[in-house]
Amino acid sequence: TTTTPQLTEKVLQDILNQNKHFAAQGKVADYIPELGKMSADAIAFSVVDAQGKVINVGDTDKKFTMQSISKIIALMVAVQENGEEAVFKNMGYFGSDKPFNHFGNLEITGKPLNPMMNAGAILTVSMIKGEGETAFQKVLKMVRFITKNNNINYNEAVYLSEKETGHRNRGMFHIMKNSGLIMGTEDQLDNYFKQCSIEVTAEDLAKIGYFFANECVRFDGDATYKNANLSKLIQSQMLVAGMYEFSGEYARRIGLPSKSGVGGGITVSVPGKMGIGVFSAPLDSHGNSVAGYQMILDFSERFNLNIFQP
Ligand code: GLU
Repeated sequence: TTTTPQLTEKVLQDILNQNKHFAAQGKVADYIPELGKMSADAIAFSVVDAQGKVINVGDTDKKFTMQSISKIIALMVAVQENGEEAVFKNMGYFGSDKPFNHFGNLEITGKPLNPMMNAGAILTVSMIKGEGETAFQKVLKMVRFITKNNNINYNEAVYLSEKETGHRNRGMFHIMKNSGLIMGTEDQLDNYFKQCSIEVTAEDLAKIGYFFANECVRFDGDATYKNANLSKLIQSQMLVAGMYEFSGEYARRIGLPSKSGVGGGITVSVPGKMGIGVFSAPLDSHGNSVAGYQMILDFSERFNLNIFQP
């Protein structure tokens, strides 16, 4: 029989030390100019265990932007407000075999593939009710609630940089306006750029992972948003589409619902148990943190976490 080690800071530190070197194989995202300024050396690894206890190692204070990870929060808010049926009326549950910014079959069926790729995420944000910045504020408020961290805000420079250079995203927005899926103004697109620019730490991501792993109950036991059905929806999307076009292979290798962002963060839900948050800015060709992926792989193997392996 195999025995799993004790979940201690020492084990996490060991995992970080063993996998740190992988960062050298990646490249910090620079298609959004402000993102290119991220330090390639910072690395952090956080776990919220089954009891809701936080364990942090590495550069725990290091902030980075959520980017695509914000898509799971927007999906939660949109579904809470409109119901799942309405949110998925014009969008699929498909897995991803295309990069995050691919138009998918937008031009063929007119409908985004899923809420995890940009087109579907932009549509999702547009379904959150309210004028101007309201939708973004709701997403920000939810991130603050889940992490119990009211200091969280968005990075203005990253937001402006995304807005300035986000031509593909603007294109998707207008195709969906053209087909009548989106009715609002470009404020809705700005809300998407703003939510991508929300700054968090690896610890915040671990708490988000814990929340969706545990029926939307917060790490400290607060059950205000408890909803088993919603957490199943979010985790299923994370599993099939959370890691861009690498999602299928990731599910094969690690077997855990996860969502990454081009800021270098990955949030992982271990269903019914814990949350994991990692950060290391250099990315692989799919847009996933290289060292982050390796730390999660190492951790999931040591603790036998793959959901397909009882
Ligand atoms: N703000 C980024 C974009 O829309 C998010 C991409 C990502 O993290 O995958 O290009």
